[in-house]
Amino acid sequence: MSRVLVPLQLDGAAPVLGARLHCLEGVTMGTTWQVRWVALPGTASGERVREAVQAELDTVVEQMSTWLRGSDVDRFNGAAAGTRHAVREPMADVLQAALWMADVSGGAFNPAAGALVNLWGFGPAPRYTDAGFAPPDHDAVRFAIAHLDWRALKWDAASRTIEQPGGVLLDFSAIAKGHAVDRVALRLARFGLVHALVEVGGELRGQGLRPDGQPWWVDLEWPPTAPGVAPMRPTRLALHGLSVATSGDYRRTYTHGDTAFAHTIDPRHGRPVSHGLASVSVVHAECLWADAWSTALTVLGCEQGLALAREHGVAALFVQREPDGRLSETLTPAMEKLAG
Ligand code: ADP
Ligand code: MG
Repeated sequence: MSRVLVPLQLDGAAPVLGARLHCLEGVTMGTTWQVRWVALPGTASGERVREAVQAELDTVVEQMSTWLRGSDVDRFNGAAAGTRHAVREPMADVLQAALWMADVSGGAFNPAAGALVNLWGFGPAPRYTDAGFAPPDHDAVRFAIAHLDWRALKWDAASRTIEQPGGVLLDFSAIAKGHAVDRVALRLARFGLVHALVEVGGELRGQGLRPDGQPWWVDLEWPPTAPGVAPMRPTRLALHGLSVATSGDYRRTYTHGDTAFAHTIDPRHGRPVSHGLASVSVVHAECLWADAWSTALTVLGCEQGLALAREHGVAALFVQREPDGRLSETLTPAMEKLAG
């Protein structure tokens, strides 16, 4: 039997029944984006929407991409020890959110974990897909762990500056996509396009209603199951004033010898997570928070993650891989509420 998750509040905008549905798509941040919206008379043309969406995405990339030489984050990462740097908007907002998430999760989520991300082959270079790539040894991991202290950035909220303590590499990949989704959705709303669905690399945010009066329904993404194993219960989510992000151990992984390495890394131990959590989906009003929480909870694992999500009233769905190959799910109380 399938399950539906619905919002607790309605955002108030009446549907525009029978109006035309527009769709645009493109590529960004090494993945794809898609925007769907309901066109109203007198609102922006498709061409203007494309330009605006691209401008929002480009801003995020120019500031927060570790893949783009000369981006703000790239320049900070290469800066000399002891130098202080102004952080522009929106990177300052994202940084502040990421630092909060790091504090609250005890460093399970860590925007200063770039050195580790690179070591394990998930940064720009060397990439785990490169010929001859091998996972790092103990000493390399120990060295990287010594350069992960997000508190050493000494973020000053008043002057919006941070310090490069020396060798700290910022990495916003676990939160920037979600923020990009929020920016695009807000930009559309400023155009008067209040009925829209925005997606960047699987992270989604929906506002308003479709032209048939229905909310933007999306299916939660499940980890693949082995042959003979019962699949997860199909779950549809009404993205009405809501966002969803899913982290999974089955995407962007590689195997070396008999071991699989996932792209979510536990900065506390310096190794990719391997506690059998297959996926975590988080539903939140803002996609930035859905994205950040889903990564944080993935690192924490089922037990610690559930406790923290409960404490903060986060709507999360954990999928655990049992030793016999079965998948089992746990919903936080806030997620149970959405399930009615
Ligand atoms: P997922 O969709 O699986 O949550 P994301 O794209 O949100 O994955 O984030 C994964 C990326 O975040 C990694 O490729 C890496 O750059 C970065 N990252 C990995 N581990 C952490 C961590 N513990 N805290 C913050 N960022 C991380
Ligand atoms: Mg994330």
